[in-house]
Amino acid sequence: MRLATLEIDRNERIGIAEGDNFLILPDNGEWPSSLLALIEAGPDTHARLATELPMLRRQAARVPCSQARLRAPIPRPRKNIMCLGLNYRDHAEEIAHAKGLPVTIPEHAVVFTKNITSINDPDGVIPAHSAVTTQLDWEVELGVVIGTGGRAIAREQALRHVFGYTVINDVSARDLQFRHQQFFLGKSLDGACPMGPVLVTRDEISDPQKLSLRCRVNGELKQDSNTAHMLIDVASIVSLLSQGMRLEPGDIIATGTPAGVGCARTPPEYLKPGDSVECEIEGIGILRNRVV
Ligand code: MG
Repeated sequence: MRLATLEIDRNERIGIAEGDNFLILPDNGEWPSSLLALIEAGPDTHARLATELPMLRRQAARVPCSQARLRAPIPRPRKNIMCLGLNYRDHAEEIAHAKGLPVTIPEHAVVFTKNITSINDPDGVIPAHSAVTTQLDWEVELGVVIGTGGRAIAREQALRHVFGYTVINDVSARDLQFRHQQFFLGKSLDGACPMGPVLVTRDEISDPQKLSLRCRVNGELKQDSNTAHMLIDVASIVSLLSQGMRLEPGDIIATGTPAGVGCARTPPEYLKPGDSVECEIEGIGILRNRVV
C-alpha cells in the first residue's frame, strides 16, 4: 500500500493511494486516526486494512491526488529522525575532497539525529534561514519507518521490523553543521526535513537495496545513484541501531545520501530563495519543495 497523511478540514487523515485518487480511511472509530497510530496499532490492524481494502474501494470517500493537501507521512514522530552520515562511498569521498582531507571511509557508522520540529511536508516551503546560514544544502535519502519495535534485532530479521519506506531530503546548513562539531544544529533547522510524498509499505519494495534515487535543483540533476551503493545496508542499519537501544513503531531512519551535494561542488552551490528541490526514489515518488 501507498499510504499518505492528508490534511482535510484541518484534520489529519490517512489516505491510501489508488491510481489518481486517495481513498480516505473512515474516521468512524473503526480505524486509527493517524498514520503513526496505524503503525503503532500493529500487524493485526495492518492485515485487517489489507483485507478490507476491497470494501474500502467501494465505500470510502476519495480525493484526487492532484487536489490532496499532503502532510509528511508522520508529521510529528515521537523521536528525532535517526540519520546515517557518510553512508555512500562517493559521498564520503566528495566530502573529504571538499574539506581538503584524505579520503577515509568511517570504520563505524556515523549516526546523528534531526529534531522532530524540522519535519516538512511534500510541497512545503523550506525557509532559507538567511539570518543563520548561507550554506543550505540538499541530500536525497531513503527513509525507513519502523513497524515492529525491538532491541538487539538480528540483521537477518531486521527488514521484518520495517513498516515501510519514504523519501527524505536531509536539508543541511553546512556552516552550522561543521562549525558546531556535532551535526544536530546544522541538520535541525525548521523545515529542514521534507518527507514523503507517501509511505510505501514494505511488501511493495522487494529489495530496498535496488532503488534508484535522484535529486534535482531547479530541474538540474544533482544526485543520481542507487541504494545498492550504501556502505551499510538497511537491514544492517536497523540491526546496528537496535543494539542496546530499543527501536519503536514509527521510528524514522534516514539512511544517508550519495554524491552530488552542493557543498562538494566546484564552486560550491547552495540553496537560495526561489529554488525548487525534487528528491525522487524509484517505487516511492517525488518529494518537491521550494526554498523561500
Ligand atoms: Mg544526510
